[in-house]
Amino acid sequence: MDVSAHIEAVYAEVRRRDPGEPEFHQAAAEVLTSLTPALERHPEYAETGILDRLCEPERQLMFRVPWVDDQGSVRVNRGFRVEFNSALGPYKGGLRFHPSVNLGIVKFLGFEQIFKNALTGMAIGGGKGGSDFDPKGRSDGEVMRFCQSFMTELHRHLGEHTDVPAGDIGVGAREIGYLFGQYKRITNRYESGVLTGKPVAWGGSQARTEATGYGAVYFAQEMLATRGEGFEGRRVVVSGSGNVAVYAVEKVHDLGGRVVACSDSSGYLVDEDGIDLELLKEIKEVRRSRISAYAEAKPGARFSARGTVYDVPCEIVLPCATQNELRREDAVALVKKGVRAVAEGANMPCTAEAVDVFQEAGILFGPGKAANAGGVATSALEMQQNASRDSWTFEETESRLAKVMRGVHAQCRETAEAYGGSPDDYVRGANVAGFLKVAEAMTAQG
Ligand code: GLU
Repeated sequence: MDVSAHIEAVYAEVRRRDPGEPEFHQAAAEVLTSLTPALERHPEYAETGILDRLCEPERQLMFRVPWVDDQGSVRVNRGFRVEFNSALGPYKGGLRFHPSVNLGIVKFLGFEQIFKNALTGMAIGGGKGGSDFDPKGRSDGEVMRFCQSFMTELHRHLGEHTDVPAGDIGVGAREIGYLFGQYKRITNRYESGVLTGKPVAWGGSQARTEATGYGAVYFAQEMLATRGEGFEGRRVVVSGSGNVAVYAVEKVHDLGGRVVACSDSSGYLVDEDGIDLELLKEIKEVRRSRISAYAEAKPGARFSARGTVYDVPCEIVLPCATQNELRREDAVALVKKGVRAVAEGANMPCTAEAVDVFQEAGILFGPGKAANAGGVATSALEMQQNASRDSWTFEETESRLAKVMRGVHAQCRETAEAYGGSPDDYVRGANVAGFLKVAEAMTAQG
């Protein structure tokens, strides 16, 4: 069996079948190209078409979401749920509400989710969903009516043993609340475990809100420790200012690092004193306004609408905004300025070319499917608590999260090395380790 030719053929088929889905092609290429050593060791997976099956979602749902705005006009958006792979457990992955959402984006996210979820070691399959609805600037009533309409269709496809969504960009506790209420209303079931990311007051898990950001920092900490380094006294840049970014900033500060910059879609903010987390949270979570308000409120801070947050010199970078936000030229500039480690808090924030630059320069690079697995891992902890009608303390949950992240990190290094690479090749390690778990389950299940 010519493994490279097989992989090339699978990738060609992905592109032929789904033209116009560049993000999905990019995610598939990244995984497929790193699987050569795994398939050489396990030719049976090529012979039984595991790769072909992995690249085709088990089910793809696309549906109309009509809702009424505050002026009484009917609006229509498109809803998606891609149920990608259920070999390891019920489909699990977030919902993204953002105008950029389309089928290709949801497929890329769902594909990543398969491997990420496998790496956590928990019994969760991979899926993702969302809508091109933009919650920005919408009233609570509009968001509620949208969520109710979205769930009116989606509920028939969900279940705590079938498919369990959570949040992602544009979907936080408010949206999860409205979605859960509609699921309960229609099904007449208080099925706590059908959605995760619920508020702690009614079935949510402690530390779920913090989990993705904290987890990314734990992952970076583990990577740095392999070189005898840590966050203490380091300059850090975190892109974004959403849920992932905010809690990444918090954990970096706890560990003695200094986050000097963060960003949103309008530009970036530099505060050499270290980002004031309370002020940032107030602006983004309470006022829901732009990050420039921070610079207006805090003397010495500077907002820029031009350039990127990666123009700010730093030693550790945590991209926590969105896909393909960190490009080749940013990576080249960061390497020149002495960056030592990059851990992806978002999904695929670095382009393939940027990843190459980091890896060639010997910079520690943690791919999102490993570095941001803390969010979904804590969702699985939420499912466990829901199933046992129990709730754990913050400390208990956070210590389980930290343990999962250490496990993900160790698996990446061990697998990369076992499959002929450097232990520092976290991309190979994450992809091969995730793939082997899913492939084994798919094979056993026929
Ligand atoms: N959206 C998050 C992710 O990208 C979390 C998914 C979940 O908790 O199910 O992993």
